[in-house]
This record gives sequence, structure tokens and C-alpha cells, in this order.
Amino acid sequence: MSRQQTRAFVLGLADYRETSKILRLLSEDYGRLSLVARGLTSPKRKTPPPEPFALVQAGFSLREGKDLGTLASLEIERVFSAPHGSVEAYALASYWFDVVGAMAVPGQGGGALFGLTEGFLTNLEAYGVWSVAVWWHFGRLLAVEGLHVRLDRCMRCEAPGAMVTHVAVALGSALCARCVTGAEDALPVQGLSPGGMGGCLTDPRTPPPATLLTVRAAESFAAVFDATVVYHAGIAPRSYAFLCETLFRRAGARHPVPMK
Ligand SMILES: [Zn+2]
Repeated sequence: MSRQQTRAFVLGLADYRETSKILRLLSEDYGRLSLVARGLTSPKRKTPPPEPFALVQAGFSLREGKDLGTLASLEIERVFSAPHGSVEAYALASYWFDVVGAMAVPGQGGGALFGLTEGFLTNLEAYGVWSVAVWWHFGRLLAVEGLHVRLDRCMRCEAPGAMVTHVAVALGSALCARCVTGAEDALPVQGLSPGGMGGCLTDPRTPPPATLLTVRAAESFAAVFDATVVYHAGIAPRSYAFLCETLFRRAGARHPVPMK
């Protein structure tokens, strides 16, 4: 059983026997990892166990074909202070980790989700909750999952993004007021236009980080994102309601999503 090493984000910790924990990680090289961390909460240990959202370097051993490995060493590379600095940032980071934790699979790879998580937290730290660059990372998450949502123009008549009023979740595309029919599974979106904000959030190019998203635009985009991952990826992030209550001051009622 050889020893491996990887950078990873802490997704969470669960109690395991008396003084141990199971450390759930999103790693750069091995996807989602679950490692038994012996003695992590032992009173003899000098350093406290790592908190969720921390970036660590983990040495571990994992038998081939097994899901649960053993942590051998742990060094904290970086602790992002933003998620602990405000409840809004905490809610957004919790939602992000909820989603990437569900998207990640064990095994080789996983670098794209890891890289986006590092970018998301770095931008959150530098520019705050309402930076377009922070929310843009959610658009990239959809792309990594093969969900190419297009909000830059109406999918039916090619009207520009400023005319968009709805998003058809099943199709992953925007619609203008003229093209929405009563039968669509369409989510109304507000605040993503005018200005092509929706297009900017789903564009592969990085947006200018100093640009801020309005609360309404963020709420619309979060609803589109959440409905899309529920519908297409089969993920139902538990912290969506908390995100809505915290950031948008309203209940996070799930938008109806049609059955496939
Ligand atoms: Zn149209």
C-alpha cells in the first residue's frame, strides 16, 4: 500500500469512533476522498482539526478499489477567511461546497472541480459575495458537468440577452418574452438583463471582478443554477434554502422542475 499526496479542500468532517474523524476531501488528483483521520480530536494533538473550506495537503494511503483510506499526514496550506467573515459569504461557500461535494466522484482526476473551487474562494476572498467573478464560477461548474447553459440570447429567435425574460431549464437556454409559451418549463429571470449579465455569467471568459451583481440578478442566476443541477445532474443541494434566506431574504422555495 503506497503513500499518496494531494492538495485538497475540506468538504467536511464526521465523527468516527472515540477520537477519530472521517475527513471528506475534494482533492486535486484523486477526486472525492474519504480518509480516516486517527486521533484528530485527541487532546494530545497540538493543532486543531481543519475546518471546512480549508485548503490542505494530505498524505494518505488507499487500497485499490476501496472507498475509505487512511490519513497519514495533514498540513494546512491556506485558510480562507471570507466564509468565516460574514454569514452571506458562509452561505455562498456552503452552497458551493454542497454542490462540488455532490458532483465529485472518487478516483483519478477531479482537478477541474478542485481548480474552480480554488478560483471561487480566491475571488470570494478578494472581491466579496456580489462580485460577478464569484458567481461566474457557478457557470463554469455547469460547463464542467457538460451543462452548457446559454443566457446570452433567446434560443428561438436569437433576440439579444437584454430581451431575455425566462430560462428553459430542460433545454438550458434563454427565451425572450415573445418566445415563451405557457407550456414551457421556464423560470422567469429578472435582473440578468439588461446589460447581458446572464451571458457574462455563462461565458467562458472571466468577467471583470470589480463588477457587482445586483441582488435580483444573483437570485435569478442562483435559481437557474439550482434548477439546472437538480434537473440535469440529479443533485439537490441542501443548503439552497439557507442561501436564499441569507442572501435574498426570502424563502428558498424550489422552483418547480418538470420530470424528465
Ligand atoms: Zn425569442
